[in-house]
Amino acid sequence: MQNIVIAIDGTSASGKSTNARLVARTLGFVYVDTGAMYRTLAWHCLQNRVNIQDPKAVAAACRRWKTSLICVEDELRQVRLTVQGYFPEKEIRTAEVSAAVPQVAAVPKVRDWMKKRQRECLQFGNLVMEGRDIGTNVFPETDFKFYLDASLSERSRRREADGVRENLAARDQRDSQRAAAPLMIPLGAVLIDNSGETPQETSARIVAEFQRRLAARQTHGNA
Ligand code: C5P
Repeated sequence: MQNIVIAIDGTSASGKSTNARLVARTLGFVYVDTGAMYRTLAWHCLQNRVNIQDPKAVAAACRRWKTSLICVEDELRQVRLTVQGYFPEKEIRTAEVSAAVPQVAAVPKVRDWMKKRQRECLQFGNLVMEGRDIGTNVFPETDFKFYLDASLSERSRRREADGVRENLAARDQRDSQRAAAPLMIPLGAVLIDNSGETPQETSARIVAEFQRRLAARQTHGNA
């Protein structure tokens, strides 16, 4: 049987990472943070003084950089995109990188490249993959799609609790309005507004709905 993909999309700071990790741990699936991949390219461009306003220059940098996809196991199994063997874990979380990512992520050649790498993650097993276009563009064929959101005030509070102050509305607007694979609700996705919920509650809802859909698919398949 083909490996399963649970696609979790949603707005910035809507709890995608926290919940995707919890779901992956509960089910024993591999966790994939696609935002980290785009952030790594933005960081690489800033490091190498690639003009991020110039889509051709960004596409050329993406064509040339030397990367590998690896699956590491610490508190859970997760995929990392390394650049010349290095994973810039802390560097990709700065305000400078956050502000630069949407421009890099809007370049169609970059999105094509990322989609290929993200689909290659299937080699590592069943996946919980989070991002902005997983259910719409990377794995549109999956039966397990979720879209997370929460009120802007709650999302801003969550980011500030992580020590990060940023204009989330502006980033969401850029991600939603780009021409290539914009952020939108995938067809057939379960919508979850998790304002006021704990991650344990939200991830339990995702796991329960996943199991319901999986059972329905198996019943259907055996009919
Ligand atoms: O999820 P995270 O905040 O780390 O994502 C950073 C940025 O990467 C997003 O604001 C978006 O511009 C881009 N992104 C994307 N498609 C994805 C994941 C992230 O365009 N699948």
